[in-house]
Amino acid sequence: MKIGILGGTFNPIHFGHLRAAEEARDKTGLDKVVFVPSGNPPFKTADTIDASHRYAMTKLATDSNVDFVVSDVELRQEEKSYTVNTIQRLREIYPEDELFFILGIDAFIDMPNWWQPDILISMTDFILVARPGFDIADAVKSPYVKAGQRAGEDFFKLKSGKKVIPLEITPLGISSTDIRRLLREGLSIKYLLPEPVERYIYGHDLYGQ
Ligand code: ATP
Ligand code: MG
Repeated sequence: MKIGILGGTFNPIHFGHLRAAEEARDKTGLDKVVFVPSGNPPFKTADTIDASHRYAMTKLATDSNVDFVVSDVELRQEEKSYTVNTIQRLREIYPEDELFFILGIDAFIDMPNWWQPDILISMTDFILVARPGFDIADAVKSPYVKAGQRAGEDFFKLKSGKKVIPLEITPLGISSTDIRRLLREGLSIKYLLPEPVERYIYGHDLYGQ
């Protein structure tokens, strides 16, 4: 099977995440997408709510799609979760399968700030999704991309030899940051995320709305 992995804080999950996962699945022929909500950060930051709530909302959001599953690998960890460890765990869970790490262009550009990116780029192939405000063509300027790779091709290579498949997807200018701000300001978040997630947020008084 071909399995996509979409990691995120999902604070909260929204239609930008869901549509990115769906288009990545559809356009690259993935059999399923595993959503991996991050665990609790070691030092609690003000607006990242508890992992159990972020996990619950991710479950609610993906419930109606048989090709979407949610993993608790990062929640079950005591220490800070790093993507390299997460992929290692998922590799143990899916030993026979082909894994693809799905991420937005903003996250790809931020990769030099991640834990052990040199190892990460050798672990799986990548599916890179566009996001409003970022140019997907900038990806080839990443320090992890092999020299001489051109934007606009079907795929390009990383220094590890692994592939990156860039995907233009329906541009949805939705972010969790904006949703949290709307809630703080007492404004509507309707049509930015699935209704069950919206109800969960109000029901549990999340994000100080
Ligand atoms: P925050 O504003 O809190 O950073 P976010 O909306 O960026 O939240 P994350 O949980 O940080 O959401 O993102 C998880 C993954 O989903 C990242 O790889 C990110 O690039 C991607 N992603 C998030 N929103 C979108 C979107 N609207 N379109 C495409 N990709 C997205
Ligand atoms: Mg983000």
